[in-house]
Amino acid sequence: MTDSIKYLLDERRIPSTWYNLVADLPTPPPPVLHPGTLKPVGPDDLAPLFPMALILQEVTGAREVEIPRPVRDIYRQWRPSPLFRARRLERVLETPARIYYKYEGVSPAGSHKPNTAVAQAFYNKEAGTKRITTETGAGQWGSALAYAGALFGIEVQVFMVRVSYQQKPYRRALMETYGARCTPSPSSETQSGRAILAQQADHPGSLGIAISEAVEVAASRDDTKYALGSVLNHVLLHQTVIGQEAMAQMEMADDSPDILVGCTGGGSNFSGLVFPFLGSQLRRGKKYRIVAVEPAACPSLTRGKYAYDFGDTGHLTPLTKMHTLGSTFIPPGFHAGGLRYHGMAPLVSHLKELGLIEAVAYHQTACFEAGVTFARAEGIVPAPEANHAVKGAIDEALRCKRDGVSRAILFNLCGHGHFDMQAYADYFSGRLVDQPYDEQALAAALSALPAVA
Ligand SMILES: *Cc1c(COP(=O)(O)O)cnc(C)c1O
Repeated sequence: MTDSIKYLLDERRIPSTWYNLVADLPTPPPPVLHPGTLKPVGPDDLAPLFPMALILQEVTGAREVEIPRPVRDIYRQWRPSPLFRARRLERVLETPARIYYKYEGVSPAGSHKPNTAVAQAFYNKEAGTKRITTETGAGQWGSALAYAGALFGIEVQVFMVRVSYQQKPYRRALMETYGARCTPSPSSETQSGRAILAQQADHPGSLGIAISEAVEVAASRDDTKYALGSVLNHVLLHQTVIGQEAMAQMEMADDSPDILVGCTGGGSNFSGLVFPFLGSQLRRGKKYRIVAVEPAACPSLTRGKYAYDFGDTGHLTPLTKMHTLGSTFIPPGFHAGGLRYHGMAPLVSHLKELGLIEAVAYHQTACFEAGVTFARAEGIVPAPEANHAVKGAIDEALRCKRDGVSRAILFNLCGHGHFDMQAYADYFSGRLVDQPYDEQALAAALSALPAVA
């Protein structure tokens, strides 16, 4: 056996459908509410922002949703993505655990995000959309949508959180290479942005603010729609190609995971890996331990409140029930920008409430330490976000060592860190610090949650 075994599925085994966990849940997640009437939103309420095909996917109860042929044809460029056994990492840790990882960094944009960006651009093209606006944190989502826009001839405008815009100039250059326009947020191009800048001219920005700006532009123009890279049901749905492939690949490896690990910002890469496994568990299959790993500086699942809240800071979105730190909470500017979101996907939050998943939070320096250990053993440099999953998997492997048991751990290595080397440089020079969030600011943001009976 070689050190690292790579399981590539036959290209014909790219899934032909996305898997919808809602069909197998014991209870459905709470409805999305209109912020004015507090009544459940209907498809027409969302029509200014999204094409109808995606709105219907947002609310469907069907177990399987067919992946359109043109989307599958594009997926073939990098799917099936490889699944590796991390034998060298196992040796370094001296663990009896079997560690596997699904690697999504092989996509053109370097993360799992193109799995949904391509699908969203396809449905927008079908609906006649000329322009799509969006937000991006670290830049992975923005570059994935920029790439998808280039494939389908759709103009893309990306509002990029200002602190990331400054930290990651090459992500911006990548978006521009694909033909997108990248605007630092808060910007003076929208009312939401101008309102924030009036309070604080050097505001670092947040995903919540950038979402407000992108939604505002999309809502004000007929030929323009909005796209979200995480959180929503249809985004999580598109990511389930990851877990479906992983199930087949684990079978090819003649093994089966006991523990599943993913990092959570809005919850999409985590859901993409775990939903197909969890679905089989709910249909009376094997039971898995499922661990969501989040940053201690923005701990929505472990410290947030399960409540109805806005998805954005400017309060232009509907209300969703989720684990939230409050839509006005501004997390400190740590390096895993993709995890700096105040809320969690409603479906993931629902699973936490049902006790079907666990959550842990880690500080960023511990995550970078894990990422460096991983890179030195396996060669791949993980994205700062992915380092949280690496840290979670390593801790599980060390627990196996302590307990003297051999379990199979599968985690999602959701992206590479080639555009994040400044963060690694900062880590090596000791400039990367663990910034705690402001407890008072959190309390204030939580006390400002909308009142929903
Ligand atoms: C966007 C991103 C995340 C966070 O988003 P999720 O929806 O939670 O997956 C994590 N890792 C990478 C590499 C990302 O690009």
